[in-house]
Amino acid sequence: MTKIKLTGVKHQGKCEISTNQCIAKEHGNLTAVFNCENGSQINVCEPCLKANLIEKTWELDSY
Ligand SMILES: [Zn+2]
Repeated sequence: MTKIKLTGVKHQGKCEISTNQCIAKEHGNLTAVFNCENGSQINVCEPCLKANLIEKTWELDSY
């Protein structure tokens, strides 16, 4: 499980996760999350973010 933090930053573009539920495979509304393990930023759409949290691929880091 990868610990992530929501940055609250929203923008437009291509989702970097692309699950089956993805709404931004080419272009769409994205939110930026911070990968606490390698310090990178991931641009992900809302359904993919939820899917990763539900599947426990990602875990929200508590402050
Ligand atoms: Zn997506």
